[in-house]
Amino acid sequence: MTEDKLSKIVSLCRRRGFVFGGSEIYGGLSSIWDYGPLGAKLKKRIKDVWWDTYVEKRNDIVGLDSSIIMHEDVFKASGHLEGFTDSLVDCPHCKKRFRIDKLEKIGDNLYKCGHCDTKIDSQKNKPRKFNLMLKTNVSATEDEPYYGYLRPETAQGIFTNFINVLNSTHKKLPLGIAQIGKAFRNEVTTGSFIFRMKEFEQMEIEYFVKPPEADKAYQYWVKERFDFYVSKIGLKQENLKLREHQKDELAHYAKSCTDIEYNFPFGWSELEGIANRGNFDLTEHARVSKKDLSCFDEETKEKFVPYVIEPSAGVDRTFFAIISDAYNEEEVNGKVRVVLKLKPSLAPYQAAIFLLLKNKPELVELAKKIFYDIKDKLPASYDDTGAIGKLYRRQDEIGTPLCITVDIESLTDKKVTIRDRDTMKQERIDVERVFEYIKEKVNQNK
Ligand code: ATP
Repeated sequence: MTEDKLSKIVSLCRRRGFVFGGSEIYGGLSSIWDYGPLGAKLKKRIKDVWWDTYVEKRNDIVGLDSSIIMHEDVFKASGHLEGFTDSLVDCPHCKKRFRIDKLEKIGDNLYKCGHCDTKIDSQKNKPRKFNLMLKTNVSATEDEPYYGYLRPETAQGIFTNFINVLNSTHKKLPLGIAQIGKAFRNEVTTGSFIFRMKEFEQMEIEYFVKPPEADKAYQYWVKERFDFYVSKIGLKQENLKLREHQKDELAHYAKSCTDIEYNFPFGWSELEGIANRGNFDLTEHARVSKKDLSCFDEETKEKFVPYVIEPSAGVDRTFFAIISDAYNEEEVNGKVRVVLKLKPSLAPYQAAIFLLLKNKPELVELAKKIFYDIKDKLPASYDDTGAIGKLYRRQDEIGTPLCITVDIESLTDKKVTIRDRDTMKQERIDVERVFEYIKEKVNQNK
């Protein structure tokens, strides 16, 4: 896959209302993006599948919705104030700034510029530390500022609420606490579309276990999360791989960590990280807050601090992976057909209803009736603003699995034409059967 594919995806997302530049009419802000009408739908579907799989369908995980702005001490305890920094170097030639850990190393202290290929000598161009946290004034007066921080990961709200959740739910370990929400990082390395943003969304689970059970739980979550992307999100298995971190790569708190990588248009990169964080977080929060965050083991009659396994996924990176995976160009009758082969259950619209003859009132009535009957039960769209070829092209580009055309014969034979996005095969079916037909298609491999 190429940069060329990346620009095609960015352009499709814009053209069809998936993703727009943030604050665009004012010139935009780097690494800030907005989701348009279709993007908002797809993003919601991703979050719904995750939430449904882990919070609604399981008895060992509960949900949480904690606040974005958090107390400074949270990040003293978590280590973010001290250590959540990137080491940045400037290229002496093109002056662009890079995270040194993301540059290709070509010798001792030598790196290749990610923009112009110039050699960067890190002895001469010393990397500088840059904290990624976004600070905000939460005091009532300007002259006596009091600072809170926008969370850089949703995880910290889970740790600070661990005891609240345990006491209010009367659950026993193993217990997962799941949260979906915004996180903020003042990322300096930009580009790559929605892969790296300053404001993004995470889906995180902190799965608390007794320490001896941590390794097994960690292995379980690595497999479970990999399988989720294939079976629930529909990504092609060959575009996914696991990468286990080497010991020298591990974050200070992590005992082990595996990334699920996706083959993005610019190469293999992290989609999700699964870490065994040991008892670092609860121990540190207990130390700084001076609160008891330990559990009582009924069997041994001893107190212990649970270990935690963290599968941490990005909503935006999942979105990006879905669009990249689904993007297809096919030659049909000498023309390029762009089609998003989305998993039907994730598609923004599961069916589109077309009307070609707008000047026949009884036909309009029939088409609208079919549309509203379907829309009542499934996400559907209605389009009567073009010739059939144009209407198909629009729906192909946004991944609508089925298109239903109401034509003049529909009035007499009470049938409509259904066209399948992937095979382009057309079938004539009874109006009465339309909803069941769509439902079957959407629920296939759900
Ligand atoms: P990277 O090395 O790519 O910066 P990370 O290791 O810092 O990622 P984590 O802290 O493990 O990322 O965050 C967990 C997940 O949150 C990531 O796998 C990714 O899906 C998502 N994520 C992290 N930072 C961003 C960002 N700036 N923009 C979009 N998604 C992000």
